[in-house]
Amino acid sequence: MEKYWPVPGSYCHETPKNGTRGAFWECRKDRYHCGIDISAPIDSPVLAIENGVLIGIGEFSSPKILPYWNQTYFILIKNEDGRISKYAELGNIFVEKGEEVKTGQLIGLVGQVLNPDKIDASSPEYVQILKMNHNCSMLHFELYETIPLDCKKYLGGNWFDSRRPVGLLDPTEYLEFEYCHEEKHHGNQKCQDNSHS
Ligand SMILES: [Zn+2]
Repeated sequence: MEKYWPVPGSYCHETPKNGTRGAFWECRKDRYHCGIDISAPIDSPVLAIENGVLIGIGEFSSPKILPYWNQTYFILIKNEDGRISKYAELGNIFVEKGEEVKTGQLIGLVGQVLNPDKIDASSPEYVQILKMNHNCSMLHFELYETIPLDCKKYLGGNWFDSRRPVGLLDPTEYLEFEYCHEEKHHGNQKCQDNSHS
């Protein structure tokens, strides 16, 4: 099945691997990363990776929850194989709940999840590093077999327990595919230090 890389304007078109920043289940001291970060300039178009149905929309981050957060949103798309993709840290959303989404369809824009002016020495270290690297906007992508019912340990794409939530999948392999469209040609540029330093 044809799939699209979700952020054609991302700095890097490779999925962050185990042990690198933004990779799945990256240990962030007291929390673990539930998804994969694809860094891109603010307002970069976000495309549906594959066909599906939009089953949920919600707030993802807000300065009312954490001072160093900006307002961003997430959407949940049920893919044809039944797995559920969460596209998060979006600034704008162009789809509605119940809508059928086609591969490559514009579904939103990358937001700026972090507010660098509010990040200081008291902020989590990984957040300070993102600020230092001028890496405050990205797509945060998660993949689920089933949506977890218990979300008490979940905040902003991280899980506050070393035991993975039931239903959460490692999206690394899911995001590694042969691009069947022209975006693949910009995809092979060398990854910038932006997301991995
Ligand atoms: Zn993330």
